[in-house]
Amino acid sequence: MSLMMDRLLPLALLTCTLVNSGPANAAEPDPDQIAQVSVINALMLGQFDGTLPLGELLKLGDFGLGTFDHLDGELIALDGKIYQARSDGTVHECGPEMTTPFAVVTPFNRDVTVPCPPVGSLEQLEQVLATLLPQENVFVAIRVDAKFASISLRAVGRQEPPYRPLTEVVAHQSEWTRENLNGTLVGIRCPKWVTGISVPGYHWHFLSADHKVGGHVFDCRIESGTISFDRCKTWVVKLNDSLGAGGKDLSQDLSKELNKVERQRGTTEK
Ligand SMILES: [Zn+2]
Repeated sequence: MSLMMDRLLPLALLTCTLVNSGPANAAEPDPDQIAQVSVINALMLGQFDGTLPLGELLKLGDFGLGTFDHLDGELIALDGKIYQARSDGTVHECGPEMTTPFAVVTPFNRDVTVPCPPVGSLEQLEQVLATLLPQENVFVAIRVDAKFASISLRAVGRQEPPYRPLTEVVAHQSEWTRENLNGTLVGIRCPKWVTGISVPGYHWHFLSADHKVGGHVFDCRIESGTISFDRCKTWVVKLNDSLGAGGKDLSQDLSKELNKVERQRGTTEK
């Protein structure tokens, strides 16, 4: 009996030591971290079922973008809240129980804020950013608070299984252009080498200052504003057991299709 106690006691002490030596701020994400849910090729191939509750997503970061369970609209994470821009043109603040199949978020800690010059297109804005952020091999979260002369947006519509590939779905997306409004561009720039895992280059979502207009951005004209950015050097990818379900080959090169999904307009206009 006493021999057994001798063996058990150190084990019990070891357990206590391990529990007590955990990081004091385990709930806080690394401020330099950018995290994503799933991989983009899974979304491209129609894996639209949500895998992570938004309450958990917000623990990984308060700023970012993505989509929702059943591909039900465009996700905008801004100032610690998550907004859903739906294909009917409405914008809703989301509860923590909703889920996402793909999203990218970071705790937004601005490194620098600079004035945004007037730009006539999204491409021009990206040219301005290229000079501000020449190092293309780190991730950057970019926030542009501005007065927009115009902004062209889209929102994907809720899908039902069996899901079709994203390229087919976006051919029927809702698109609209709004003029003269204040709002925020939520941007993520990924290195080119993330092909297949995330979206290489710039990806922009938008939320108006009154939270009534939002979506995935095709183009914009900016009168004036500010650009803030946060470089992220730790990349976290949250995987799940349903990745590649149904024998989907996630290793295939879908970069041409992804470019169409991100940049090309569909067939409908509101
Ligand atoms: Zn988007």
